[in-house]
Amino acid sequence: MHGSNPIRQPVKGDGTTLDVVNIFPTIQGEGPFAGQPAVFIRLSGCNLACDFCDTEFEVFNSMHIDTIVEEIVALAGEHKHLVVITGGEPLRQPIELLCQTLLERGLTVQIETNGTLYRPLDERVHIVCSPKTTTGRYARVREDLLPHIDALKFVVAADHALYRDIQEVGQSDYGIPVYVQPMDEHDDARNHANRRYAATIAEENGYHLSLQLHKILGIA
Ligand code: SF4
Repeated sequence: MHGSNPIRQPVKGDGTTLDVVNIFPTIQGEGPFAGQPAVFIRLSGCNLACDFCDTEFEVFNSMHIDTIVEEIVALAGEHKHLVVITGGEPLRQPIELLCQTLLERGLTVQIETNGTLYRPLDERVHIVCSPKTTTGRYARVREDLLPHIDALKFVVAADHALYRDIQEVGQSDYGIPVYVQPMDEHDDARNHANRRYAATIAEENGYHLSLQLHKILGIA
């Protein structure tokens, strides 16, 4: 969306319907579950508008949770045990019921969030937070979310002033592992520089390097 999306506020509801962009099988390409076969569900809308965002999340349908779960379970089959709920910003919508239902089906649930919203989710849900700079620097991640975060994923770019440094957003207080991921600027030279930059930061600080495997593979 490259910052052109409308800012959408959190929605209330019981979670029996959610606004869904798509549901698809793939390989999780990023973060602590990288390389694992997964079913992704992309929810609509975001409460931020980042200029580097290359995700489409404003074309969506309202779906009943029974249909959503049916589709996910069918796509999961026997070998995909991981369900990734992403967006947009997935915590914008009432996903508590979806998470609970998927866990009861024996699936592993991971969400990707920007760390600015909170919902009380089952403790078994894995939360990967990718903080964003909204006011010229990273805002500290929400205090109520921090204790539940499994990993923090920072997008870094060699020549992007706002995305050069890994800043303290609460990771030290909670011992949260940090992943650094090169920004995809859709430019071979810049992306190469970003990969080298991310690798250097990881090596020098003991962070994990996260490459977007799905983009390397040319899959969704
Ligand atoms: S928080 Fe994520 S989904 Fe939302 S605009 Fe930023 S990069 Fe895109």
